Amino acid sequence: MNDYLAKAYAFDGRVRLYAARTTGVVHEAQKIHDLWPTSATAFGRLLTGSLIMGAMYKDDQELTIRVESNGPIEGMVTTTNARGEVRGYVGNPHLYFKNKEGKLNVSHAVGEGNIHVTKDVKVRDFFTSTSRIQTGEIAEDLAYYFTVSEQIPSAVALGEKINDDNTIALAGGFILQRMPGCPEETIALIETRLKTLKPVSQMLEENYTPEDIIDAITEGDHRILHKLDLSYHCDCNREKFERGLISLGEKQLHEMKEQDKKIDTVCHFCKTTYTFNEEEIDLLIKETNKT
Ligand SMILES: [Zn+2]
Repeated sequence: MNDYLAKAYAFDGRVRLYAARTTGVVHEAQKIHDLWPTSATAFGRLLTGSLIMGAMYKDDQELTIRVESNGPIEGMVTTTNARGEVRGYVGNPHLYFKNKEGKLNVSHAVGEGNIHVTKDVKVRDFFTSTSRIQTGEIAEDLAYYFTVSEQIPSAVALGEKINDDNTIALAGGFILQRMPGCPEETIALIETRLKTLKPVSQMLEENYTPEDIIDAITEGDHRILHKLDLSYHCDCNREKFERGLISLGEKQLHEMKEQDKKIDTVCHFCKTTYTFNEEEIDLLIKETNKT
């Protein structure tokens, strides 16, 4: 099954609901960043949450989420857009530890700190809002962000399953948001449904599609608005890195050239290496004189 997201209006149109299956995206991220299970779980949840949040925006608008915390994961960053593309990186990809119950200890990996959400709506300046990390489990932290920073009461559930060989087997999640004027009885009904709902990891294991997840929450009282394919995608290219190197200035480029006879630049998001040899560095130095 390909990764995709479904968006629906539910509960008589009083609730917006997004559900996603992101196994391939998280698997790709694990390959690129060589993620060990605890890092893969934490980062996978952030990737899934980001993709769903990205789907709340339009066209080429971008959303960057930075987890800035004191845990051993040393922070995480994701950038996503409304086209279902996400990329990101994680401070420490090599974490693997469990809590007393034998579960991967994401909360400890993340630690305490803040989540910064930056919106680039391509018309004005960036807009960043910050909220405190609550549990470090990511889902609760994003729910808190929505409820406090955006004043949209939200429930967020993110889940995954890891294979015995430590690769990601399944990933996905959902975000449910109450619209203004949602009646008390609907709120109570939603709370009951969420309490009795199977965990996301179990639904994924039982091959639930995003529509099935929506159906399980709403018991049929919904209308699917659209679906969106999801992918791990980095839009870096050689020109971007050329511009970055040119901005370092002539002196530093000379020093780098003398030292190594070449420059290797690596994209944080996709680990692609762009190498510049001596002649190419000379061309970059010429460019610094033009600006
Ligand atoms: Zn890249």
